[in-house]
Amino acid sequence: MRHLMSSYGRLPVQFNHGIGAWLWDSKNNKYIDALCGIAVTGLGHSNPEINASIIDQVQKLTHVSNLYQIREQEELAEKMCALSRMENVFFCNSGSEANEAAIKLARLFGYKKGILNPCIIVMENAWHGRTIATLSATGSSAAQQGFGPLVPGFLRVPFNNTNKLNEAISANRDVIAVMLEPVQGEAGIKIPSKDFLPKVRSICDKNGILMILDEVQTGMGRSGKWFSHEHTQTSPDILTLAKGLGNGFPIGACLARGEASKLFSPGSHGSTFGGNPLGCAAAKAVFNVIAKDNLIDRADTLGETISSNLIKKLEGNKKIKEVRNQGLLIGIEMVVDCSHLVTEALRENILLNVTGGNTIRLLPPLILSDQEAEIISKKVCKIISDFS
Ligand SMILES: *Cc1c(COP(=O)(O)O)cnc(C)c1O
Repeated sequence: MRHLMSSYGRLPVQFNHGIGAWLWDSKNNKYIDALCGIAVTGLGHSNPEINASIIDQVQKLTHVSNLYQIREQEELAEKMCALSRMENVFFCNSGSEANEAAIKLARLFGYKKGILNPCIIVMENAWHGRTIATLSATGSSAAQQGFGPLVPGFLRVPFNNTNKLNEAISANRDVIAVMLEPVQGEAGIKIPSKDFLPKVRSICDKNGILMILDEVQTGMGRSGKWFSHEHTQTSPDILTLAKGLGNGFPIGACLARGEASKLFSPGSHGSTFGGNPLGCAAAKAVFNVIAKDNLIDRADTLGETISSNLIKKLEGNKKIKEVRNQGLLIGIEMVVDCSHLVTEALRENILLNVTGGNTIRLLPPLILSDQEAEIISKKVCKIISDFS
């Protein structure tokens, strides 16, 4: 690894192939994947239908450029808009880029209103990406350390607190948007109270500002709905997606409706690779498979099964603060730092992750069998019991 920049502290394991929820390492040890490369491979590794679409497309056309019309992109956008009730889509290659597009849309929205010093309200502990603008929107001083000066124009308020949000908007005439995750993923699967998103929606409406939802982690069925905001019947003006969108093929999207959908004009924004035929073929197949196999309901059921199982099995364990989930976004918050459990998990042949130092995060695939869900619950409980 001498020739790789050390931006990642990597675990000492290398995977050679995967099928469904399972991965095999270079010594042919088998692991169950309860992380999906951080909410990416929701339909499992080597999904035959996704693979078939990619192979079919790669034999026809991989890339042309957004200088031309791309049928796969139009078909994918139509599907996405129908499901999300948004009006149009900008395609890119990652979650950060999707959020960059959202931030640019919001700034244009302000610019057209004559606001030259625009401000986007963001949340404490938010995660929006690693590019300079999205890092500035991200609420992690650890991630920001050393990368200043950050991009101005972000104002931070506590998550799940509409009083503070209202105060911030009243105190600042240049607020153009509120940007947030419906469930904070990197912060440790933080689920706001049921009325939070609807209240943010009405605050945005009252003040004539945009509501931007970052569903990069929560979207694509993982939450038990196509998009997490459906849990509270709250429609954003701008919606961003990436992670699970291509099941491992890098593709991101920024969707908009209403005024926000009419802001970009030719030359406003762009991406060389964004929405190329290959990426769109992969994402189209992802939508088809999720719908055909009814994986939205399955994610909901699996999430309930796994989390209730964990709650039952871990009852009385004094190191557990809370088990919470929305579909297959599952967090097990402990009262102590438990970062080292990632290595323990590897020893138990399960991939999971710890965020915020004390929350075990499970983001397993939507295609789990009941038996595989049981294996995950058992292994997680064993790791926690051994630690306690
Ligand atoms: C992962 C993530 C991002 C960043 O996506 P990248 O593809 O890594 O750029 C942004 N927002 C949320 C909510 C995420 O979980």
